[in-house]
Parts: sequence; C-alpha cells; structure tokens
Amino acid sequence: MKRIVAWSAYPTVMMAAFVAHVLCTHNGVTPQIATFGPILCGCLVITFLELKFPHRRAWLADRGDVINDSSYMLLVQIVLPQFFGFFAVITLLGALQTRGMTLEGVWPHAWPVYFQALLLMVTADFMRYWVHRLAHEWPPLWRLHAIHHSPHKLYWINVGRFHPLEKLIQYLFDALPFIVLGVSEEVLALYFVFYGLNGFFQHCNIELKIGFLNYLISGPELHRWHHSALSEESNCNYGNNLIIWDLLFGTWFLPRNRLVGDLGLENRNYPSGFMQQMSSPFTRDLDKVT
Ligand SMILES: [Zn+2]
Repeated sequence: MKRIVAWSAYPTVMMAAFVAHVLCTHNGVTPQIATFGPILCGCLVITFLELKFPHRRAWLADRGDVINDSSYMLLVQIVLPQFFGFFAVITLLGALQTRGMTLEGVWPHAWPVYFQALLLMVTADFMRYWVHRLAHEWPPLWRLHAIHHSPHKLYWINVGRFHPLEKLIQYLFDALPFIVLGVSEEVLALYFVFYGLNGFFQHCNIELKIGFLNYLISGPELHRWHHSALSEESNCNYGNNLIIWDLLFGTWFLPRNRLVGDLGLENRNYPSGFMQQMSSPFTRDLDKVT
C-alpha cells in the first residue's frame, strides 16, 4: 500500500486539483474559490498522507512546530503578497488594465491559456532560480534565507517559513513583473494551483516517488537535499516549481544510494520561534557555530 501511495499520490492529487480548478472555472465559480478550493482540499489530503505514510517518523511536526509554522503561514503570507497575495493580484489586475498601466504587446495574450501558464512558470522559475541561488551565495541575503533552512525536519506546512523581507524580494521578481505585463487572472490562477500544491509536496513528509519527473519538477526527493545541513548538498536544487534551470546551470543533485542526513543549519541552536526569527537575520553569522 505504501508503495502504491508513494508513486500515485503526487500525480493523482495534482491532476484532481487541475480538473477541479478547470471545472470550477467553466461553471462560473469565482477565480479565488476555483484556485484556493482545490489547493485547500489538496492540503487536507497531504496532511492525511503525512500522518499515514510518513517518509520519516522523526519529521512529524509537534505542537510547537505547527504553532510557529501556522504563524508564518497566516501572518507573513497574508501580510506580504506571495501566497494569499495572489488574491490581490487577481483583484488588482482589472484595475491596472483599465488604467492602461500594463505593457501591451510583450506578453503573448493570444496563446492558449495552458501555454501562457507554462511560459509563466518557465520565466518566473528562471528569476526565482537566480534569486534563490543568490540567497545561498550572497551572505546578506543568506541571513534572511537562513530562516527557511532553520527547521530540522520537513513537512508541508513549513514551506511558508520565510522572513517577510525575503518574501517581498521574491514577490518583486516572480509575481510583480507578470502583473505589470498584464498576464490574465485565468493564467495566474492556473499557475498558482500548481505553484501552491507543488510547494506543499516539495516540503512534505510523505514517502513519495516521482521517477522521471525529477528531471522536470522540483519535487520532494530533490528538495530534501536542498535542506541538508551540509552546505555542499544544500547549495543545489534551487528550482521553485521546475528543476530545468538547475539541470542547465549544473546545480541538480540527487544521490540514489543514500538518504539525506541532518537537515537545518550549522548552528543547531538557531532560534526556531516565529517572533525570534523576525530579528534573527540582523545578527551576523547566527546560522554558524560560534
Ligand atoms: Zn534555499
């Protein structure tokens, strides 16, 4: 049973979410509900699978983890428009377009919606790849990004653990340009169904196998290495949705003969609480052993 779930959970949940999204869209459901409804249903399935078929029992979240990660999920993601911010994007898009504040003729609006969503994913991922890689290679940005790498375990809800300032930087590169280009809400919504659910799967603690998709999608098998406590292992697999840019730029990493060791930062006592982490990036070398 565990093996069947391992191979079928990802494609089944993703396909079901897309079908639900398309059916809702074609039956007059609002874009917000058509987008977040399938994502929230997917979260429930992922939570159930984490409890029933965990990749590592030791990675199951305890009460403190859930409280801190929920704080990130609810407060940071709402305050800074990255996750729920797409609500604002979808709502503001019409207002921007009526004021002529979009760049006409740059984005291929005439393409089929699915091709536009694919183009959006490839280009947004290209920018996120370099923002993410810079966050690992440039110390001032790493101090912000270290928060995302601070947990010693992975489970779906800690995908939202980002400092608000880093969220803002990500938003400037992977969302704002496409709003200015006037990408339609239909395309953004389609993209966001994948973005949301793949992000949860990427961090999930489910025993999952995605096979050849490890050469296309940035999924959990690759992303676990990105959270390794060893920097030579974590400085890889930067892809947000896709892994193609890592393959192209030589940072794809997936050892076949062993499992990842410890996760997290060199400093095993790096603060883990939500309020403490708001100020953590302003202490130099806090992620290192002193
Ligand atoms: Zn990272």
